[in-house]
Amino acid sequence: MEGNEKNKKNYLVFILTALVLVILYNAFVIPSVKKTGIKEADYSFFLEQVDKGNVTDAEIGESSVLFEIKDKNGKKQRYSTVRLDDGQLVERLHNNGNIEFTGSIKKTNPSAEFFLSWLLPLIFIIVIFKIFTKKVSNRTGVPGNITSIGKSNAKIYVKAQTRKTFEDVAGQDEAKETLAEIVDFLHDPEKYAGIGAVLPKGALLVGPPGTGKTLLAQAVAGEADVPFFSISGSEFVEMFVGMGAAKVRDLFRQANEKAPCIVFIDEIDAIGKKRDGQMGGSDEREQTLNQLLTEMDGFDGKKGVVILAATNRPDSLDPALLRPGRFDRRIPVELPDMSGREAILKVHAQKIKTDASVDFAVIARATSGASGAELANIVNEAALRAVRSGRRSVLQTDLEESVEVVIAGYERKNAVISQNERKIVAYHEIGHAIVAAVQKNSAPVHKITIIPRTSGALGYTMQIDEGEKFLMTKEEALAKITVLTGGRAAEELIFGTCTSGASNDIEKATKLARSMITRFGMSESFGMVALETVNDRYLSGDASLICSQKTAYMIDNEVKKLIKICHEKAMNILSEKIDKLHELSEFLLERETISGDKFIDILES
Ligand code: ADP
Ligand code: MG
Ligand code: ZN
Repeated sequence: MEGNEKNKKNYLVFILTALVLVILYNAFVIPSVKKTGIKEADYSFFLEQVDKGNVTDAEIGESSVLFEIKDKNGKKQRYSTVRLDDGQLVERLHNNGNIEFTGSIKKTNPSAEFFLSWLLPLIFIIVIFKIFTKKVSNRTGVPGNITSIGKSNAKIYVKAQTRKTFEDVAGQDEAKETLAEIVDFLHDPEKYAGIGAVLPKGALLVGPPGTGKTLLAQAVAGEADVPFFSISGSEFVEMFVGMGAAKVRDLFRQANEKAPCIVFIDEIDAIGKKRDGQMGGSDEREQTLNQLLTEMDGFDGKKGVVILAATNRPDSLDPALLRPGRFDRRIPVELPDMSGREAILKVHAQKIKTDASVDFAVIARATSGASGAELANIVNEAALRAVRSGRRSVLQTDLEESVEVVIAGYERKNAVISQNERKIVAYHEIGHAIVAAVQKNSAPVHKITIIPRTSGALGYTMQIDEGEKFLMTKEEALAKITVLTGGRAAEELIFGTCTSGASNDIEKATKLARSMITRFGMSESFGMVALETVNDRYLSGDASLICSQKTAYMIDNEVKKLIKICHEKAMNILSEKIDKLHELSEFLLERETISGDKFIDILES
């Protein structure tokens, strides 16, 4: 209850300060205002002056007497004194001729007095306080109001605010189709009710990061002319104790009032994790999740509240959340294929000036495995590069270079690398390239470079498949491992030693060889037995072994054998082409970068 307590404390401090201010005001300000220019005097002085005939004017109040004296010089001075119960006073005044005297009618109206001295200053202070807190909360976005606690701070998107439509989302046609149906339902529920069709209450967008899940939800908000509540799972979690559930309740209450509408919960895995019943910090999350489940059951599907949620960890979600009647529709948002990538590049290229000669298909081909977010980044990098080069539009080379920037980091133009090391790197890269070119099952070489990158790579060989590949044959997998061992093989063959530069190749080769054995069923000794399962498919993609220790030992041996065979094959290929290896490496050392075509020219000459 951090915020609650803080708020209460604020109020207490405020009320105390206000009280003190009002008391001070009453004690000092009011009397001194009343008394400006009025002198205190005692009653005997008053009577004396009356008798002397100096008093020109007297006002007899309930408890005091105000009077004015004119001295010999004609100067006037006002006095006040207490009124004593003096029966002869009136007579006395009368006898002294020219005194004008009035009994004060004002008899101090008590409610007016109270208003002036207590209420008015209080109101004044409250108004100032309100204005002040309003300004603060405008700046911080935190409402400075005690009544806002426990209410959800779901943003309400309306069409004009997200300004995203399905046009902005490229290459996710299946997802768009499903979502378009939901939008259509919200526009015209009668059409569906006529046949008796019930729309799914919730749809769950699942896929790797950066594939456009959040973007799709925003596009739905833009397309549907209905209120769109958006909140992220972590916003529920950050709540004070007990508030997560209250927020869920409030969110759904608001949604029910505004129906038809859409509720979007981003990164739902933050609250929707499997309930494991373990002690400790997860109590709060479970309460929130339970409340969510209850709310999803509780509302009427025909009323038109549709719940969208997004996650990249579908496996960790609580099964109760996924059962029909809750999130019964699962919309996969996968990494884009080649045409999808081209479409995404084009969508983002609309925002920048591109040269007419730019061919996005080529870039799409070179970016296999890239997500929508990465492609958006590539386009932006290209635009930045064009600006840096002082050009007015983006060229093909800008895009190609930015692909490499996103894959391998920026060029380290002024990195100092000794001639000897450059030579080793050149042979290493040409080693990869020759092994790739000689085998028929590996992708063509697109570019070889020995310009160091900020990622730490001292050089690399880029291979680009001709078409889109969805499957990998055993031969292709073996060819890939062979190419990966080609760099090290060249080092051994030429320099008779090995360097640490092959560590990344080794890691990749081992991972692939392992997968071939444990998951793809590509080894003779194990066959089609699953020995590993993949956790968090969309995130780390790490696998965990599901086999006995003895089998694990056998797997290790098998991996070793597989890589050894590939390594030997690479050695054979390179020993056969050793002349070309020397020739191409010299050429690369001189040029730093060579294209795939030039490489093939020299290799086949
Ligand atoms: P996530 O799936 O992780 O929620 P986002 O929706 O936040 O990914 O996507 C991040 C950014 O990547 C988007 O703002 C957009 O610029 C870009 N992007 C991702 N996918 C696409 C796509 N299919 N079409 C166009 N842009 C995309
Ligand atoms: Mg997202
Ligand atoms: Zn290498």
